[in-house]
Amino acid sequence: MYENSGFSNNKTEKVKKDYIYFDHAATTPVLSEVVARINECFTKFYGNASEPHLPGRNAREILENSRTSVAEILGAGSSEITFTSGGTESNNLALFGIAEAYSKKGNHIITSEIEHPAVLMPLKALSKRGFKITYLPVDCNGQVDPDDVKKALRAGTILVSVMHANNIVGTVQPISEIGKILKEKGVIFHTDAVQTFCNIWTDVNDLGVDLLSISGHKIYGPKGVGALYVRKGTRFVPYIYGGGQEKGRRSGTENIPGIAGLAKAAEIGFATLEEKIKRLSEMRDYLKNRILESIPGVRLNGHPTERLPGNCNFSFKFIEGEAMVLRLDMAGIAASSGSACSSSSMKPAHTLKAMGLSNEEAFGSLRITLGFENSYEELDYFIDELQTIIRDLRDISPLYKNTV
Ligand SMILES: *Cc1c(COP(=O)(O)O)cnc(C)c1O
Repeated sequence: MYENSGFSNNKTEKVKKDYIYFDHAATTPVLSEVVARINECFTKFYGNASEPHLPGRNAREILENSRTSVAEILGAGSSEITFTSGGTESNNLALFGIAEAYSKKGNHIITSEIEHPAVLMPLKALSKRGFKITYLPVDCNGQVDPDDVKKALRAGTILVSVMHANNIVGTVQPISEIGKILKEKGVIFHTDAVQTFCNIWTDVNDLGVDLLSISGHKIYGPKGVGALYVRKGTRFVPYIYGGGQEKGRRSGTENIPGIAGLAKAAEIGFATLEEKIKRLSEMRDYLKNRILESIPGVRLNGHPTERLPGNCNFSFKFIEGEAMVLRLDMAGIAASSGSACSSSSMKPAHTLKAMGLSNEEAFGSLRITLGFENSYEELDYFIDELQTIIRDLRDISPLYKNTV
């Protein structure tokens, strides 16, 4: 089902051709060019980048070229990029790193209620160490109001962390506006850009951010690798100590295959960004319109226009998201009922609750996140299957029966 994507240069590994993958916000398949690059590094460029001999120098060259690639995409300087083990580590490094470096200046941190757990949990840990955290609310579309950021600032505010786009509902935040406010006040600004890097534009100067987190596996690259951008002149304390790699900011022998894979995926993702945004937005709107027209008792969650190109999130009345996901899986379709991190617990996604959805609406949510390799044919098959599944599940729902 990947053939008719129109992206002939972007072939993915065909793991299961007859299975439709609509969960790109959770992770993406790895591009075959990326797999080839990773293999090349494992077999030919196995050197330790800290060693002065030829294999070491070869590894170092790959490392620094990868750094330059990522930096260029972000509009940053190479020296501002630190490679990490993924988005989670990048966020932890940013939050703990800034909190500790600036703790003499103040102990107040501002964030939003809808951050990824990789931001919320480190902040929870910091609050136990005496930091004061302000959680900004979002509107019904999932957006933070820049005025609320302004109002929350205090003399002791050292850091603001607001994600660039939300992983559940795809809402894009007004980061540039917040960035302008914070620059004026001289407050450090971090954004979790894991969902936006190579999916929309992420120039650090346009956004006005001082730190920005990215991850490899959300952009058709490998898992277990990511990066943190830190603006020159911003002090931060390392999180992992050891041999002093990455200029002492993140010790540990560099993961050359992973880093080169991340860079390769980013280069391809950035080169095709414009056509990807256009294609995915069109597919998303087609899916959204067809679902809203053909299925009763459904609402779209998230911002109507300011959202990630590939993200659709719906709530279906009288139905549980988990049940839909299981039935879709049986039909050969991968979708998500919320955040993968919270789907094993019985708590509805915190993002949806923060947007003012009832428990029922939050439990009845379904997230479809598209990738460039998806086709309209797949969307049509999905819509047909979903209609049947919704009908079946409502038929066995006592709540629904009471309403008809
Ligand atoms: C996936 C994700 C992360 C975590 O990245 P990992 O590389 O899986 O650790 C952090 N933030 C957001 C918004 C994400 O979608």
